[in-house]
Amino acid sequence: MSTAIAPALSRRKIELLTNNIRQRFNCSDCYFDIVSFVEIVIPAIDETFNYEYASSNELSPGMYAYYDPTNNTMKILSSVYDRACEDIGRDRFTIAHEVGHYFLHQDGYSFARTNQLIPKYCDPEWQANTFASALLIPRAQTKFMSIEEIKDKCKVSYQAAEIAYNRNWQ
Ligand SMILES: [Zn+2]
Repeated sequence: MSTAIAPALSRRKIELLTNNIRQRFNCSDCYFDIVSFVEIVIPAIDETFNYEYASSNELSPGMYAYYDPTNNTMKILSSVYDRACEDIGRDRFTIAHEVGHYFLHQDGYSFARTNQLIPKYCDPEWQANTFASALLIPRAQTKFMSIEEIKDKCKVSYQAAEIAYNRNWQ
């Protein structure tokens, strides 16, 4: 079995990074405009960054988006982009997950062969999901909200809101 392993990152460290990003871009609301962030903000701070919208036959089956660190390019399925523009939570999360790979895994990560389960803190997919959740659903601003409120104010799916709600009370 082949498993990707990234340098360990705690939830706390990831939240420090997402809070920093939100502060730097003056986002004090719950709502984070992830589409404008990819289209306007990242290209303004990183001129080597590219993003492209892809049709489904350009991506592997079942793939909605991906970030390629070798050419600093993000590819997003056009339908995912369209739905993210309409504030559909699941699609916003898909893009935020790739933004997580952009910030956390620009140097790539190693693929180690192991039969053992790796700790979640070293799993690049766990790290990107934790980043997406923290960026779209900041703990401080959502601390006393219900799952429904988180879903409506942050424009995320019910499932993502529920996970963040449980995280907020940990
Ligand atoms: Zn991923």
